[in-house]
Amino acid sequence: MSGLNPFEIARRQLNDCADILKLSAGERAMILRPMRELKVSFPVRMDDGSVRVFEGFRVQFNDALGPTKGGLRFHPEETIDTVRALACWMTWKCSLVDLPLGGGKGGVICNPKELSLGELERVSRGYIRALGSFIGPDKDVPAPDVYTTPQVMAWMMDEYSKIMGKNQFGVITGKPLRLGGSPGRGDATARGGLYTLREAARKIGLDLGRATMAIQGFGNAGAFCAQLGESMFGTRIVAVSDSRGGTLCRDGIPAQKVCGHKEKTSSVIGCEGAEHISNEEIIELDVDILVLAALENVLTEENAGKVKAKVIVELANGPTTPEADEILYKKGVHVIPDFLCNAGGVTVSYFEMVQNFYMFYWSEEEIHKRLDQRMTKAYHEVFETSQRFKVNMRRSAYVVAVKRVVEAMKLRGWV
Ligand code: NAD
Repeated sequence: MSGLNPFEIARRQLNDCADILKLSAGERAMILRPMRELKVSFPVRMDDGSVRVFEGFRVQFNDALGPTKGGLRFHPEETIDTVRALACWMTWKCSLVDLPLGGGKGGVICNPKELSLGELERVSRGYIRALGSFIGPDKDVPAPDVYTTPQVMAWMMDEYSKIMGKNQFGVITGKPLRLGGSPGRGDATARGGLYTLREAARKIGLDLGRATMAIQGFGNAGAFCAQLGESMFGTRIVAVSDSRGGTLCRDGIPAQKVCGHKEKTSSVIGCEGAEHISNEEIIELDVDILVLAALENVLTEENAGKVKAKVIVELANGPTTPEADEILYKKGVHVIPDFLCNAGGVTVSYFEMVQNFYMFYWSEEEIHKRLDQRMTKAYHEVFETSQRFKVNMRRSAYVVAVKRVVEAMKLRGWV
């Protein structure tokens, strides 16, 4: 996987979209830059009595459509550029599924695996105290991301509530159910992606009940995708992989079996009755559906020409480079682009915010129904725009999403 800078890629895609939409210089400048960035340093008392100073960020990319929304990462290699790129994508993602929200993202440079539970709690609370009024339920609402959990969200919500002197459940999403979390959040990203796959299959005439699927990345998004792909459509999962490599069985690998194997061995490799396959080979496998659920820059100009799948389901953020996109488009591969395909997570996070404001909670069925409506509508808007402008699905997704944000900025008198 190449080390391309995701923010540079996002800016190339945005410049391209600005050309299609014939944006003015001011409009173009606004969609290319974050509106606000905060860098914080905060002290944390460690278990051995010493004090360690941690660094964190929060980026609010654009809030023309509403309060910003986006995850928080705890990662040793966190950089402001990654946070910027992810905040940028959140802006277009929220716009695309028509949420009244802007895009944000945050992170703390730390390795949670090296922290005790008490230290993790103090880092979480320290970060929120450092952000102070930079966030808020009607301003900027964080959520879990890499290495942050519902428990971390609960501590953060509690800290913010203490600062404000009242319960503020809506300041953060992805909370445990007992503290205002939403039913249906766990599998929302995979489920949302599969709703878009269902619509894509109708468009290209693919029978999902007879189709085969390979999944790169078997974490939260990938594992739920395998389970739901089977249960919702009867799709046959023939290969899955994780960071160590993959496992292949032409007759199908039941999702439950791989999940059990992964639980026991911490890897999908060596699943009984299956053969080994590398992460490179899984990309080129002869299957109907290729799901990308691991990392960015997986499909590049080097391997895009070798893809045999009819549909690519991008649950990961930024898995395909612009060069690869062009190759796939010319080959007629139907790509469901990342910020459309994986928007289910933020959509259910938005439902969590709404339920917190109302103090009234919906059933899981209600969540699924509302999620389906939004994902299906967004898919068709992107598909129809791609036909109208004769551009690939990613360019089309940018056109739909950027147009709405620019309209909001114009109405507000910013541009
Ligand atoms: P995760 O950490 O739970 O899982 C990631 C999986 O990818 C793991 O199985 C890991 O072993 C595998 N992986 C890592 N490096 C790999 C490599 N080189 N080759 C193959 N597999 C590799 O993460 P997740 O939450 O499932 O997120 C996966 C992707 O989906 C990320 O790009 C994330 O930003 C995106 N995403 C997730 C959500 C969500 O709600 N979980 C929402 C939107 C987008």
